[in-house]
Amino acid sequence: MDNIQMVDLKGQYLKIKDEVDMALLQAVERSIFINGAEVKMFSDSLKSFCRAEHVVTCANGTDALQIAMMALGFKPGDEIIVPTFNYVSSVEVIALLGLVPRFIDVREDTFNIDDQQLEAVISPRTVGIVVTHLYGQCCNMTAIMEIARHYKLKVIEDTAQALGAEYIPADGKRTFAGTIADIGTTSFFPSKNLGCFGDGGAIFTNDEALAQRIYMIANHGQGQKYLHDYVGVNSRLDTIQAAVLGVKIKYLNEYTVVRQEVAAKYDELENIDGLTIPARAGYSSHVFNQYTCRIADGKRDKLKAYLTGNGIPSMIYYPMPMHLQNAYITYNSTGRIFPVAEKLCKEVISLPIHTEMTMEKLEYIVEHIRTFFKK
Ligand SMILES: *Cc1c(COP(=O)(O)O)cnc(C)c1O
Repeated sequence: MDNIQMVDLKGQYLKIKDEVDMALLQAVERSIFINGAEVKMFSDSLKSFCRAEHVVTCANGTDALQIAMMALGFKPGDEIIVPTFNYVSSVEVIALLGLVPRFIDVREDTFNIDDQQLEAVISPRTVGIVVTHLYGQCCNMTAIMEIARHYKLKVIEDTAQALGAEYIPADGKRTFAGTIADIGTTSFFPSKNLGCFGDGGAIFTNDEALAQRIYMIANHGQGQKYLHDYVGVNSRLDTIQAAVLGVKIKYLNEYTVVRQEVAAKYDELENIDGLTIPARAGYSSHVFNQYTCRIADGKRDKLKAYLTGNGIPSMIYYPMPMHLQNAYITYNSTGRIFPVAEKLCKEVISLPIHTEMTMEKLEYIVEHIRTFFKK
């Protein structure tokens, strides 16, 4: 058995090498490195994949969040509600734009924003909510959108970890993560469910006027060349990345199924005392960008060391909540405690999950975790 990896990008590439090489070579031969035909083609594929009305591609998932917040007209001093158990991007962009993050705790079962606490965090200065569909499963969007509409707040869905996840509301009308709120954003960082060979990102919306503004902001705020209607940024998905993505998006459904199969194998750990497998919300499918367990009784770090000692990598997503980070602690000047987020940072561990995982490796990992808990 060769080495177990957290992600296996080389293995994934080798399976579609001929197709990807051909697409890359074509892009290089055409040499339209910015805004080549591949960009529009991929953007159209992504649009039909997610059944979104509009897709604007950009340079990365963090830029996508920034462009989204600029397009929604958030102004310095405006308050934005954001979960504290999170990847840094949304909080970072909020701070960069002079907005004020209002942190909110997450749910212990799904790791996603605790919608029950939303109303308590809303103030007269609140203008928006940025939710993250963490690890590959949608937040409780029906409840979130209901509250948002009532208080006239704009909602952005950070879909960097959940591309292809389906939201399943009570009426059964399924929609894709990223297409439910005012704007959705995603990332094509190599380890995401749809990853390119560098950086890339995209923005979804069903609002045509907003789509136009998003497109212009991503392109220096210009509609026509050298005429700038908005303060914008320079954020483009380059042609070569679009060429790779244009091939890989055809396999995204297959990739998702494999991730779900890996997760189903890890679910065999369910009956271990002291380990909690990831909960599945009834209102969402799960595309498992990560398979994240909770380890009770302060044993998480010991388990991680034990796995490392046996050649099994694992990751802690995330070791520290945003409200305790040096860069953002000033936004929590009252020293509010977010008990679930703080506890999760000590309990979570993400196991290797990717599209090239073998049953042999999975069995090895599952057996070692069982052995650890028997000791
Ligand atoms: C990866 C990720 C991002 C950032 O994407 P980049 O393309 O690296 O800028 C944002 N939010 C979440 C939840 C992510 O996982």
